Amino acid sequence: MAKQGTLMVVSGPAGVGKGTIVKLACEKAEGKIHLSISATTRAPRPIDSEGVTYYFKTKEEFQSMIANNEILEWAEYVGNYYGTPRKPVEDALSRGLDVILEIEVQGAMQIKKNFPGAVLTFVAPPSYEELESRLRGRGTETEEQILSRLETAKGELALMEEYDYVVVNDRIEQASDDLITILRAEQLKQKA
Ligand code: 5GP
Repeated sequence: MAKQGTLMVVSGPAGVGKGTIVKLACEKAEGKIHLSISATTRAPRPIDSEGVTYYFKTKEEFQSMIANNEILEWAEYVGNYYGTPRKPVEDALSRGLDVILEIEVQGAMQIKKNFPGAVLTFVAPPSYEELESRLRGRGTETEEQILSRLETAKGELALMEEYDYVVVNDRIEQASDDLITILRAEQLKQKA
């Protein structure tokens, strides 16, 4: 019988580079990791593409997905809804693939509660100052949005201790290898 894959949550403040390291880890794992694509009500950014970075939904569509139990976890973040579509995650896990959910902390806490076998990894910046400069350097948000995300980041950093692992994103090569190592360790664990 195929072993179930590991459900891994990856969280971290905006601008920490978690998207980049998750993408690199998926490339290195050569098809053994399924990256969940979330649904969101936020407006697409220029780099976004429907069904690739997110499924873009209206508030009404999102609410009906919740009502129909199609969402594994969801949260409101900086004024928009974000949620994980349930079916693709369950399908991938039962095919033995590891699944990464790149989600914020409220959603991560829901997964921790409802999926005891999930592994929670927090991607931390080398320092708060470094985070601020990366977020500004990204150039995708207005000053107001940047300040709001930095404020949210402070709350997120405070929740770091709820996670099983902390990966410091100092060098992306090392940080992406760390994610793969954590998944490998999970596979080797003796399940009770
Ligand atoms: P962004 O708007 O920058 O793409 O994402 C904002 C935050 O929402 C990020 O921290 C991202 O990880 C989180 N996020 C993305 N998808 C989901 C999801 O499905 N559920 C939850 N809870 N958070 C998500």
